[in-house]
Amino acid sequence: MSKNTTEKTDLHSAGSRRLLAADEYVVGILGGDRILLSQAITLVESTRPSHQKMAQEILEKCLPHSGQSMRIAITGSPGVGKSTFIETLGTYLTGKGGKLAVLAVDPSSQVSGGSILGDKTRMNSLSANNRAYVRPSPAGDALGGVAARTRETMLLCEAAGFDTIFVETVGVGQSETAVHKMVDFFLLLLQPAAGDELQGIKRGIVEMADLIAINKADGSLLEQAKIAHQEYSRALHLFPEKESGWVPKVVTCSALTGAGMEELWQIAGDYFYQIRNNGWFENNRHQQANNWLHEHIERELRHAFFNNKAVRERLPFF
Ligand code: GDP
Repeated sequence: MSKNTTEKTDLHSAGSRRLLAADEYVVGILGGDRILLSQAITLVESTRPSHQKMAQEILEKCLPHSGQSMRIAITGSPGVGKSTFIETLGTYLTGKGGKLAVLAVDPSSQVSGGSILGDKTRMNSLSANNRAYVRPSPAGDALGGVAARTRETMLLCEAAGFDTIFVETVGVGQSETAVHKMVDFFLLLLQPAAGDELQGIKRGIVEMADLIAINKADGSLLEQAKIAHQEYSRALHLFPEKESGWVPKVVTCSALTGAGMEELWQIAGDYFYQIRNNGWFENNRHQQANNWLHEHIERELRHAFFNNKAVRERLPFF
């Protein structure tokens, strides 16, 4: 296998690779085979009906083996330090024996044709770390579709034994709401100085946060980071109490030096301890699964409707 594990496996490449049977993928995934995991994810992302059918079969068989990870959203504006942060925290976690999968939801790639997150040069050291798996953002036609595929990818990664999943988004649009619906813990990265409006962060995103990390708390930015810490700590009191019973926290950290990472991870640990004990973890996962089922049904129905021959003839402009 190539050293760089930021994988996007092309099933059509050179026509050399045949499709395996669903069971072969499943056995491979459950055994932690990263190449088969990557190929299965490519099937999940494919729009070909035969690939989709196979992907659903694989997913169904992997589902009983999924659900065991900590699902964590990491969001923040471009430039705030997300990839540096994920590299540093990810290296810390894998160093402690964890297995981390990093997935991205980047709806900008469908709008502009370019991608804010999908850049191959990001997270080089994690990509070469055999306890980590970095999967670039799927290209997509609609946010709902991209988010659904990210969720399915997450389930496959869990079946492959990854105990922590980071889902990264850019913190500027609707993808956060979609991602919020698939994770247990929502981490917002900010940088010192400017308030959230100036950082392009919507109030609704701040409200979703379980933890705000003021990154770049180093060098000349350290003092400003401390001030931002105080401001956000005050501001969080103004938000309504969370259903999970968790009181959101603010920390400062430096993805560059690693300062604050241990404390930050300790807080995440406290959070998971609390929600597992008060029942929120199970309730939330159950609720999320129900919501996804409904969204899936709606999407499939819409798809079937607009692809129906009679409908297409009568609605020629769609
Ligand atoms: P992303 O766009 O959110 O993924 O941000 P990047 O991780 O690419 O970081 C953007 C820039 O901020 C890069 O030049 C990083 O070196 C820098 N950066 C990231 N984290 C820190 C930090 O903790 N301290 C400082 N001083 N710079 C940082």
